[in-house]
Amino acid sequence: MKNISEVLEGVKTIGIGGHVRPDGDCVGSCMALYLYIRTYFPDVDVSVYLDHPKPIFGHIDHIDDIKTEVEEGREFDLFITCDVSARDRLAVAGDAFDHAAKTVCIDHHVSNPGFADVNYIRGEVSSCCEVLYGLLDPDKVNRPIATAVYTGMIHDTGVFQYSSTSPDTMRIAGELMKQEIPFSKIIDESFYEKTYLQLQVMGRVLAESILLQNGKCTVGYLRRRDMEFYGVEGSDLDGIVSQLRLTRGVEVAIFIYETETQHFKVSLRSNGKVDVSKVAVFFGGGGHTRAAGCDLEGSMYDVINNLTAEIEKQFCEEEA
Ligand code: AMP
Ligand code: MN
Ligand code: MN
Repeated sequence: MKNISEVLEGVKTIGIGGHVRPDGDCVGSCMALYLYIRTYFPDVDVSVYLDHPKPIFGHIDHIDDIKTEVEEGREFDLFITCDVSARDRLAVAGDAFDHAAKTVCIDHHVSNPGFADVNYIRGEVSSCCEVLYGLLDPDKVNRPIATAVYTGMIHDTGVFQYSSTSPDTMRIAGELMKQEIPFSKIIDESFYEKTYLQLQVMGRVLAESILLQNGKCTVGYLRRRDMEFYGVEGSDLDGIVSQLRLTRGVEVAIFIYETETQHFKVSLRSNGKVDVSKVAVFFGGGGHTRAAGCDLEGSMYDVINNLTAEIEKQFCEEEA
């Protein structure tokens, strides 16, 4: 596939969907594709399905068009997933995907097995938004579409800082800026800004974090009862694992929070020596070399021990 128009030929109904707990890249890519089809293929009936996106994405045009449930019996001519690394990571619209006449997967996860009829997966690219941009007609990327693409790019590159950021990433960001997008506002309000409560919780996690493996691994955690005490959800905890990763000497940062009793959501970040996607895949999750995640059950200590043992294997391989 060279251009998205190739798969849109003769198609009358389209569903678009992203992954569970949608992040900026997921919301940005789904919305950019939605806005593009809506604007330039007005005869097509297009719907976008996502879990409730956070208010920080309110600057994206038509964000309120997002549907959180698929209408009963809906069968699409085409279903397109964006930023979804595996079929079981698709949120809300799993059945609609299975029943669609044709499916397309646009993604950038190295662990993606290619679960659709047409797969456009570029594991070396920093964001799904960047992958998607390559499939769009650049002259048709207007300000609202550019805003959505830019949002995804800054979120998955940590504002053009992670090693996945390439000259192409910066070139595309430059093209998007030509549309006079409010880039400073997007970066501050969707990426850096936190509520007072979110910062208090981050402070607590950092204060209680532990250093393991001769200072090469750091672990932050939050129990259900503490989340209830503060009144925070998983979506309030973004940015904590990135902060942990910045500890001097640390190679791997782990952040764990309890979703329900003895069920944990795990986020892993690496500074390059350890491939955390391998660790996540080992535990049934996935992701990228330097950012990955999984869900684990058991006691907090077992979860930490199991994860660090798997990380230790890579440290040993490296020394061998
Ligand atoms: P997170 O730590 O949730 O920000 O996720 C980092 C990366 O790992 C993202 O690209 C996610 O898509 C991926 N990821 C996180 N959790 C899982 C999971 N349970 N299964 C597969 N991939 C995951
Ligand atoms: Mn994502
Ligand atoms: Mn992504």
